[in-house]
Amino acid sequence: MADVREHWIASIPGDGIGIEVIEQAHRVLKQLEKLSKTFKLHIDTFNWSSNDYLKTGEYIPADGLKTLKKYDAILFGAVGSPDVPDHISLWGLILPIRKMFNQYVNLRPIRVLPGLSSPLKHIDAQDLDWVIVRENSEGEYAGQGGTTHDDTPYTIANEVAVFTRQGIERTIRFAFDTASSRPRKHLTLVTKSNAQRHGLVLWDKIFYEVAAEYPDVKTDKMLVDAMTVRMVLKPSTLDTIVATNLHGDILSDLAAALSGSIGVAPSSNLNPTREFPSMFEPIHGSAPDIAGLGVANPVGTFWSVAEMLKWLGEQEAGEKLMKGIEKVTESGFKTKDIGGNADMVTVTEALLRELENSY
Ligand code: ATP
Ligand code: MG
Repeated sequence: MADVREHWIASIPGDGIGIEVIEQAHRVLKQLEKLSKTFKLHIDTFNWSSNDYLKTGEYIPADGLKTLKKYDAILFGAVGSPDVPDHISLWGLILPIRKMFNQYVNLRPIRVLPGLSSPLKHIDAQDLDWVIVRENSEGEYAGQGGTTHDDTPYTIANEVAVFTRQGIERTIRFAFDTASSRPRKHLTLVTKSNAQRHGLVLWDKIFYEVAAEYPDVKTDKMLVDAMTVRMVLKPSTLDTIVATNLHGDILSDLAAALSGSIGVAPSSNLNPTREFPSMFEPIHGSAPDIAGLGVANPVGTFWSVAEMLKWLGEQEAGEKLMKGIEKVTESGFKTKDIGGNADMVTVTEALLRELENSY
């Protein structure tokens, strides 16, 4: 047993369907650990949720971030509650983790999985194979600004988007490395630098500076409004996409919907220097409308788990998991959001059987 690798994972289920899909993710991880025999997982669960906030005014206990720092990776479900304004839950739980651990890249692969189809009939499965690299630490999510003249008819709210050379450059560099590692070697920059003439012009400038170092990567540049049209009408012309925090968020919801459902889309909040843990989560939210019904699509979470395993160096397990997910969707084990009638546990158990067969 000498060469069994060990990984410490902090699991934060959160709220709503986050709790349900993470429970299924644990079953999948346990199965992979058992079958592979080459790694051991220590999974500790932190039940930080909107209920805690409603009781104590805090999502994360005082020493919570310090505790998380010791882990190799964080697996996250979703946060959100009808009883808590969204900006409070987001700033209460996810954003502090992203910021504290310098998870400055949000990586979102999007493909049409086997057995799924785009809701837009003109899009063939092979037309849509993208990776969105979303800047994850600054920009429109900097949290800078404030209000004056409160509670008067003249209230002014300033929401200051902060862009730094360092913040832009490290994300753009990551995007070029990503594009360069993919067969098509094509990177599209998305900004709105015609209307936003400071920060987004700096994005354009740095993009072309870095591009000079990657002669093998073809590039182009889009304004975010025109980009939504291109994604819908000419998806096969895109491959790797890099965008600001806000634009990346919006475009990846669109991309996920085009690929079948937001229930299948994964995301990785990466600290590329590996100084701190990275965090893996499905892109969907807590979905209070279907919470507790057992019908949530667990695929986005399973795909996120596959990305986590690869990040931890468990390439084989990550690839087997991805293949297993594809076999499950291909053979028709699908939840309602992707046109099937299977419930979450049925999909999970089909995956557990596929994994059993793959070792
Ligand atoms: P949040 O504020 O937490 O992001 P939201 O309301 O913005 O929540 P989601 O929770 O992602 O967004 O839900 C958007 C819609 O997509 C809802 O109708 C929800 O039921 C559906 N949905 C989200 N995730 C899934 C899933 N995994 N499986 C099935 N349907 C889903
Ligand atoms: Mg949302």
